[in-house]
Amino acid sequence: MSLLLDTLRAQFGSAQVLTGPDAAPFERDWRGQFPGQARAVLLPRSREEVQAMLRRTAEFGVDIVPQGGNTGLVGGSTPNDSGRELVLSLKRMNVIHRVNTGDLSVHAEAGCVLAMLQHEVQDYGALFPLSLASEGSATLGGVLATNAGGTQVLRWGNARELCLGLEVVLADGTLLSDLDGLRKDHRGLNLRDLFIGSEGTLGVITAAVMKLVPAPRMRLAAWLTLASLCDVLHLFRSARYHLGESLSGFELMNASVQALLEPALPVRSAPWAVLLELSSGQEEERLRSQLEAWLAHELAMNPQRPRFLDAVIGQSEAQFAQLWALRESIPERQTRAGGNLKHDISLPLDVMEAFLAAVEPALQAVVPGLRPQVFGHAGDGNLHFNLAPPPGMGLPELRERHGEALTRCVFDHVALHGGSFSAEHGIGRLRREELARTLAPERLEWMRRVKALFDPDNRLNPGRVL
Ligand SMILES: Cc1cc2nc3c(=O)[nH]c(=O)nc-3n(C[C@H](O)[C@H](O)[C@H](O)COP(=O)(O)OP(=O)(O)OC[C@H]3O[C@@H](n4cnc5c(N)ncnc54)[C@H](O)[C@@H]3O)c2cc1C
Repeated sequence: MSLLLDTLRAQFGSAQVLTGPDAAPFERDWRGQFPGQARAVLLPRSREEVQAMLRRTAEFGVDIVPQGGNTGLVGGSTPNDSGRELVLSLKRMNVIHRVNTGDLSVHAEAGCVLAMLQHEVQDYGALFPLSLASEGSATLGGVLATNAGGTQVLRWGNARELCLGLEVVLADGTLLSDLDGLRKDHRGLNLRDLFIGSEGTLGVITAAVMKLVPAPRMRLAAWLTLASLCDVLHLFRSARYHLGESLSGFELMNASVQALLEPALPVRSAPWAVLLELSSGQEEERLRSQLEAWLAHELAMNPQRPRFLDAVIGQSEAQFAQLWALRESIPERQTRAGGNLKHDISLPLDVMEAFLAAVEPALQAVVPGLRPQVFGHAGDGNLHFNLAPPPGMGLPELRERHGEALTRCVFDHVALHGGSFSAEHGIGRLRREELARTLAPERLEWMRRVKALFDPDNRLNPGRVL
């Protein structure tokens, strides 16, 4: 037994220092793409324990990998295979300290699972408006560390925009706490924003105060099919103008993604489908009339060539949930169908068509028959641009023989069109080289300086992001 583990067990107890088979679930990410080996897994129960663990491990100079729900998609939350890194899991820190109905906010520990948080605040007539397909496992600390987005960004913003305060422990155990939850506070530099999206490289988030919104009285979902991406983008612009604040989600799926959802599709598949959500404090009848009037307007605009081919509106809360469950099931269905090469990109909306028109033939030239499975948060310009192998080829072969060329092709086209190769999944280990390859040297240099300032010994998530 090593001195480090003996010391940690003596101070925190064996139940908080896992090794061997007990540590195994923490050493592997959700998709099994980044398996590693940890020296041990630490499970603090309080902010004070996080501070004590970081101080103690600093004495031994060991590296720390902060972990929440371990649903990250870029290899940031699992240890590498050196067997030297310690995983610091925030899982046991899952207390909701306060739901403040006066100023609509919630103060909770970093290990709170998103779905649990959403459920708890419902009893107060509030909504925690961050929603991801991984919300059954993703934690508050994780969504802040990755500045997660999801399906409601269009209306409420991503994790950064919802955060009112943060509590962070630095690598040397120093506590930085800003949990006043003030909506206006201009006392110097806003350090909070540096930690949000820093993927565990600057500090360990132990708690946060997050904005809530009044729970909508009514939510409606509609599934529409369309002939072209041009129609999808027209429809989005029109929805924004006509539905205004009520529009809270606008998700798109291409034909290959719809094929994965068969036979559960609500209407016949088409080149594109859109799942649109409206939510509001209005009465159901008013919201429904607003939606129906807008759809009728769209049909009337050009009766010869309607902008959408087919539409179905969920008629009950159960149907609303069914339509969303279908959308949320896409990542899992992709995995069951054999998997794909994933790219999480964002583009200005007005170049999205040009991007697809240029990138698809370029990809087919690399691997004929390749099947792009495109879906995502179209309203935010965010596409999950995934590439499934052609019939007869497995994912390992696609990855090994063509993965690099395909990803390079996607990212080069993204850059040419003024987009980002990482919209909401982060950098982690997966996209580190791309960051170094494409970011302006001055930006990289200032990121390194910020990292060195907060974590001079490079102990927090080394080898991730930078
Ligand atoms: C099915 C599926 C769907 C998804 N959909 C979306 C989506 O729509 N939008 C989106 O943005 N993401 C999505 N993701 C990605 C993922 O769920 C998010 O990145 C999520 O925010 C990760 O939260 P987590 O608690 O699982 O963090 P982890 O995976 O445990 O960690 C992610 C990163 O944050 C760091 N970290 C975790 N906790 C802390 C902490 N307390 N302090 C400091 N650093 C920390 C880790 O070191 C790591 O670098 C999806 C993932 C899956 C599997």
